[in-house]
Amino acid sequence: MADQAESLAPATQLVALGREPRTPGGQVGAPLVLTSTYHAGGAEGYIRDGNPTWTALEEAIGALEEGEALVLGAGMAAVAAALSLLPHGGVVVASPIGYMGTTTMLRERAAEGALELRIVDTTDAEAVEAALDGADQLWLESPTNPMMELADLPRLCAAARAAGVVTVIDNTFATPLRQRPLTLGADIVLHSGTKYIAGHSDVLLGVLATRADEAGRALRARLAKYRHDVGAVAGPMEAWLALRGLRTLAVRLDRAEANARVIAERLATHAGVARVRYPGSGAMLAFDTVGDGARAERVCESTRLWVHSTSLGAVESQIERRRRYVTEPELVPETLIRLSVGIEDVEDLWRDLAQALDTLL
Ligand SMILES: *Cc1c(COP(=O)(O)O)cnc(C)c1O
Repeated sequence: MADQAESLAPATQLVALGREPRTPGGQVGAPLVLTSTYHAGGAEGYIRDGNPTWTALEEAIGALEEGEALVLGAGMAAVAAALSLLPHGGVVVASPIGYMGTTTMLRERAAEGALELRIVDTTDAEAVEAALDGADQLWLESPTNPMMELADLPRLCAAARAAGVVTVIDNTFATPLRQRPLTLGADIVLHSGTKYIAGHSDVLLGVLATRADEAGRALRARLAKYRHDVGAVAGPMEAWLALRGLRTLAVRLDRAEANARVIAERLATHAGVARVRYPGSGAMLAFDTVGDGARAERVCESTRLWVHSTSLGAVESQIERRRRYVTEPELVPETLIRLSVGIEDVEDLWRDLAQALDTLL
């Protein structure tokens, strides 16, 4: 299957890749290989070297991202692996807004002197271009968490390449079904596989993808060495569950996105809502309420169907006010509520959200 992977549509790749060769009596799905060691003499000796269940998931995600994938134990392990490519004191260009784990890690490492951080508004392409001189890595999210702002990825990737800067794009929100950063010029794509890829709030997993050319393979070898050396590996059970979740990503995302469109439209008409932030695709959105942060928090506490919890990308709809965390930057409004829209019936979702919003009136 792997040899024909490129000719298949993404919805088919999701289902068909990462399986065993067809043999009479053989299993249909991917193997779940639970072993920490292997009989001597093979390509892999120990679990930190590799695992057939990772390989199955990597085959599927690599094809989806039009590159080659590497599965790790967490999205944050993928972030740490990408940062491990930096020389000591290396220069990172990044937005002040983004996934909190990433922005916090960047700020803390900058404070320790391990790296130099140039913070720029990544929606402003000229400002990013001006910051690239002498930089080592450009970190981008588009849309950003939780403001849902977009960056001009082809322009920024081209500028970074011209300046010799490695571009890392966190593609967790868009998924490879809505955006393929390697085809837009990125060097490294990063996913929290915990979110849409696994999709059921029951797995912690990270993914990196690099281009299938010489430079991409050189990056991948360094990232794989980091995974091996520090043991930033995925549990085989987690990789297997993520592959099982990945099979339905296209139908889950189509349904969740259709729901998100309806929710975004209706939010815009509700008197308790000051602003809707929806980039037009995907199933993540945010909105600002009227009133203050405490009242916005009460909205989150007043839903019965929407799950009041952090994280995203699951079958169930989730709601959270991001400034409940002291480390969320002040650029994020106190009244901003992030929604991860799930696959439930949209009328049930709207009814529940509307009754919670009515507490604002
Ligand atoms: C959750 C998340 C991460 C971190 O991934 P974990 O799997 O929780 O370690 C990174 N980036 C984004 C956009 C995320 O949503």
